[in-house]
This record gives sequence, C-alpha cells and structure tokens, in this order.
Amino acid sequence: MYLEKLNPQQRMAVEHGTLASGSHVAGPLLVIAGAGSGKTNTLAHRVAHLIVKGADPRRILLMTFSRRAAGEMARRVERICTQVLGSNSGIMADALAWSGTFHGIGARLLRDYAEQIGVDPAFTIHDREDSADLMNLVRHELGFSKMESRFPTKGTCLAIYSRAVNSETELPLILRDAFPWCAAWEKQLRELFAAYVGAKQNQNVLDYDDLLLYWSQMVAEPMIAEDIGGRFDHVLVDEYQDTNRLQASILLALKPEGQGLTVVGDDAQSIYSFRAATVRNILDFPALFTPAASIVTLDRNYRSTQPILAAANAVIDLASERFTKNLWTERQSGERPRLVTVRDEADQARYVADKVLENREEGTRLKSQAVLFRASHHSGALEIELTRRNIPFVKFGGLKFLDSAHVKDMLAALRFALNPRDRVAGFRLMQILPGVGPSTAQRALDQMAEDPNPLQALAAMSAPPRAGEDWASFVSVMQELKTGKAGWPAEIGLVREWYQPHLERLHEDAATRQADLLQLEQIAGGYPSRERFLTELTLDPPDATSDQAGVPLLDEDYLILSTIHSAKGQEWTKVFMLNVVDGCIPSDLGVGTSAEIEEERRLLYVAMTRARDNLDLVVPQRFFTHGQNAQGDRHVYASRTRFIPATLLQFFEVCGWPQGKSENASAQQARQIRIDVGARMRGMWR
Ligand code: ATP
Ligand code: MG
Repeated sequence: MYLEKLNPQQRMAVEHGTLASGSHVAGPLLVIAGAGSGKTNTLAHRVAHLIVKGADPRRILLMTFSRRAAGEMARRVERICTQVLGSNSGIMADALAWSGTFHGIGARLLRDYAEQIGVDPAFTIHDREDSADLMNLVRHELGFSKMESRFPTKGTCLAIYSRAVNSETELPLILRDAFPWCAAWEKQLRELFAAYVGAKQNQNVLDYDDLLLYWSQMVAEPMIAEDIGGRFDHVLVDEYQDTNRLQASILLALKPEGQGLTVVGDDAQSIYSFRAATVRNILDFPALFTPAASIVTLDRNYRSTQPILAAANAVIDLASERFTKNLWTERQSGERPRLVTVRDEADQARYVADKVLENREEGTRLKSQAVLFRASHHSGALEIELTRRNIPFVKFGGLKFLDSAHVKDMLAALRFALNPRDRVAGFRLMQILPGVGPSTAQRALDQMAEDPNPLQALAAMSAPPRAGEDWASFVSVMQELKTGKAGWPAEIGLVREWYQPHLERLHEDAATRQADLLQLEQIAGGYPSRERFLTELTLDPPDATSDQAGVPLLDEDYLILSTIHSAKGQEWTKVFMLNVVDGCIPSDLGVGTSAEIEEERRLLYVAMTRARDNLDLVVPQRFFTHGQNAQGDRHVYASRTRFIPATLLQFFEVCGWPQGKSENASAQQARQIRIDVGARMRGMWR
C-alpha cells in the first residue's frame, strides 16, 4: 500500500484530517522540512490520498513554482491513484485540472472572472521585456528620459515598481532599503508608475506582477473570494518559502479559516527574495489561524548520501539565520563530494564533458546527471563543448529562440489579434511593414485607441503611402485571426504565411529562421488554445535542447543543464556545479547587502542538495565576465567561493584537473599575478 512506504511524520501529513470518516476537509497544515526530506513526495501522496478517500480532483487546487514541477506532481498523483483505484476508475481523465503555477492559475481565474472586475477577458500578458518597453514609452512621454541628472533606467524603474507591488511596501521604504541611489526621484517615480498603470489598463495588458495583484484585488471582494474559494475543497502549495506576501494574502482570502489548506516549504531554500518572496510566510503561517495550523516537520533525508548531506549541512550551518534543523540520512557512502580546481572555463567544460561520458560508460544515463550554475550565461563554454562532442543536452527554461526577432514578430501578431489594444505588440508589428516607421505606427495606434472597436478602426484607415498592399494584407490577417474561424493551432500557420515575405525581405538567413517558425508551430500544437499558448509561453518558456528541435522525445537520453533557480525541487544521481567561485556565487551583480549574501549561500545549499550519489563542485581559476564591470568583457581571476572556507574543506575531496597540473599551483599562481598586473597596466590607457 502506498501509505506504508512513508515514515510516520510523512504519513501524519498525508492523512491529516482524513481519518474522521466522511470528512475531507481538514484544518490548515504546514509541513516544514529540509531538502530531500520528501516534502513534494508527501504532498503528492496527500493529493492522491484525498482522491482515494473520495475528494473530487477537479476541486483540488495545487500550486507549484514551475509548470514542469506541476506536471511531475500530476504524474506522481496519477501513478498512485491508478495503483490503488485501477486504471479504469475514470478519475484521472480530468484529474488535477487546477494544477500549475501561481501566475498561470491566476491568469486562468482572471479570465473567468474578468467581467466581474471590469477587465476585458482578451487581455494579453507582458513579459519582463515588454514591460520594460512600455515603462520606457511612458518614461519618454513624461519627459523623464531627458532630465538633467540621470533618471533611473527602464529596468531599474520596473524593478522598483515590481518590488513595491510584490512586497506590498510603500515606495519610500523600498527606495530607502533597496534603491537608495534613486531616492531623490520619489515624486517622479510615483507619477511614472501611475502613468504606467494607466497605460496598461488602456491597452488591456497585464504584466507578471498584475497577475498576482489583480488576483489579490479580486479576492479582496468577499463575494468573489467565497465563490473561488468554494470551487476548491483543497488548496495545496509546494515551495511555500518562495511565495510573497501577495500570494499569502490570496491564500488567506480563499481559505480564511485555513480549511483544506496545506503548505510545504523549507526556509533554508528560500531563493526568490528578488521577487519579494519572504520566509515570513512560512513562519507566520501557524499563527494566522485559530486554532493554529498543525505543523509537521521531517528530518530524514532520503535523497543524498551521508557525505553529501554533511557538506551541504556544513555550508548552511554558517548561515546567520535558520529555522529548519539539520537532516540525517541512512545512505552511507565512502565518497565525499569533490572540489575540483581547473584552469579556466574551457577546462571546466572539458572536465564536465569527460566525466559525464565516463559516468555514462559506467551505467549512469545522461538524464540522471545535471550541470547546475548560478547564472544562465555560465554554461556557454560547456554548451559549445557538448555540441562539439555530440553530447545531447537540454537547458531548462533556456529556449533562446523565443528572444529572436522573427519569433517575437510572430508572437506579437498572435497577441495583437487577440488584444488590439496591446501597444507594445502593435508597435512592433506595424514597423515590420515597409514604409511604416515609429511615428506612423504611433498615429495608427492612437487612432485605434480612440475607437471602441480598434480593429474596425484599423481597417477603416487609409494605408500609409509606401505600405500599400502590405498594409492591406496585415489588416486582413488580423481580421481573420479575430474571427477565430481558422481554429487553434491552424491560426499560427496563417500568421506564418502572412509573415513569410517579410521574413525573406528582412533577414538574409531567412531559411534558418524559417526552421524556428516551424518549431514554434510544433510547440504551439501542444497547447489547447491561443490564450493558453501565449500565457504559458510568456510565463514559463519551454526548455531548450542541443539540437533546438523543441521538446525532446521522451525516450531520448540527454544531459540536463540548469540554473539553480530552475533546478529547485529536483534531484539527479550525479550533479556538477560550475563556477563555484566568488563573483559567480555569491554573484557580483547584487548590491552585496548581507541579506543578498545570505540568499546566495542558500542557493549553493539548494544546488548541493540536488545530488543523490555524487557531487562535483568545479572551481575555475579564472573566468570570463560579460560586460558587467566597467571594463566590459574580460577574464578575471577567481577564488573559491567564500561559502566554503578552509574550515569546511574537510567535507570535500579536494583535487585538481587535469591531474598533475594543480600540484604546481604556486607556480601557476605566480604566473597569474603577472598577467593580472599586465591587464592593469593596459587599463591605464583605456
Ligand atoms: P526539496 O526540498 O529538494 O524539494 P523534498 O523535501 O520535496 O525535496 P522529495 O523530492 O519529495 O523531497 O523527495 C526526495 C527523494 O526522497 C525522492 O527521491 C523521494 O522519492 C524520496 N523519498 C521521500 N520519502 C521517502 C520515503 N518515505 N521512503 C523512500 N524514499 C522517499
Ligand atoms: Mg520538493
């Protein structure tokens, strides 16, 4: 039986509130425990158990931090349910219709309730880049970009705005604590944000933050909150340490007494404070309710071997603040995690590629191995090396082609047809047409904005003099899409046909780009509707593969490349971590406040605790920075991350690669210093 595999604490969490006969609605429950202690597993068992006990899967709301995690969870639940109920139970067909990310679920609910809250259900969603573009537009319109002293950049403006919204904190406090150099602009920023909000509303677009903000506003209305809350008997949340105050307030509005509410998390893995996530949500959870929430803690780790766990515990023990206890495991092993010094990133790439192949020879398939890094661009050299050696890989969340101009053009067309008030999309799209520049596009968009039926207004306009035929075909494809007659995903074929001549005119390498568009069509086929496609592609881009052919076949074997953030919640038999040096982790992009440094420490902890049997931390002695410093792109000399001070070396097997080279470490260091001085001399003349 599925319950028998669980330990007593896990079982307590799974059965919480289901023991009394006929009762499926339990009081609030918090599971707080360290990495690999079975939190997610317990949550999946709990959902399955609820269903087995008769809960209606369509009335279960399950929220995780990524679409991948949600899919994985749904599969686990399905597996357990089929085991217990048999495959003919019919329950799984529409099981867990409401599992996904907070943002994704928010988007769906907002479309359902749009009328009640005065939002046009055809709203489109802006990704960060679109948001920055709109912020920039508004900044220009207000004349702030031409101020004498430098007004904050669009990116900074957006970051401040986002932080204020997500943390529900007053602007002056945000400026004082996180953006002190912008404090002088408080009055203008207020004006800018008001105008930005107005622009979004006029254009019927929502940004990421709005999905939570509107959702929380929506459920602040008790009637709606009751209605939505009433749709779900159970609301369960994984990785609760990475939710922010808005998300906590949404949960509370849906389930004011905490009935049917389960949250699980680990404060030591809190890594999203840049999105205003706060561990306070976990810590405050029990006291939110009367009587207080039940708490289950788990302390046995089932994932990692003892030496890996010991090293990870040692790293997190140096944290200044921490609530969960150290974990223990029964998985013995004689192998300590390795701390491998290599010369540079090229050697690092060669080392990882060699080891990965060696492991495969010894029976660990590529899929059970992962390479993790702090920032997405850290894997560049490795990607080249893997490609050169024909080692297939998938990079989580890194589908770069979504950022390319031609794919963005296609997506803008789909978005604009859905919501012709979306100016960022319209502005981009019109300028594809020959003879249409920014001012013509602006004028057309202004005219459309004034009309209650913007597409009709577009059709009624006379074509700009040099655009002629191209204008007409643009208008007609927009109208055709608006009718929805072609159906999904055939619509995307329509857009491609329209775009084809422009692609050929605008790009010399049209043939290669053409392949991307076909790939986009293929990906689109995996989504039920244009809205869901646009929403989910924006919120959670698919993974990139080494052959760029979309989602790889399930039976294919491939190595996983992932940022630490995207690796959250997952595990692999063998894990490599790149660039374990100061400047990469902790990253030198932050301001360097102690809170930021602590978060970087937790990131390293998250990375280390992904490993089951083997963990290699690679330390290149020099690495490449990408124009982050005043000096631009350059090599810098690196030292091992400060999170592994000399006192922790006992937890590692310290070695160099290729063997023999690092034995001569002091000579090498002397050589480094000489080169470093040379760089400084040249710098004097820049
Ligand atoms: P993280 O903090 O990284 O999200 P987690 O606490 O969610 O980790 P899981 O991913 O649920 O942990 O579980 C870690 C591993 O331990 C999985 O391989 C899971 O199958 C295994 N596991 C969990 N509970 C048990 C158990 N009672 N018996 C055997 N294996 C278990
Ligand atoms: Mg988990």
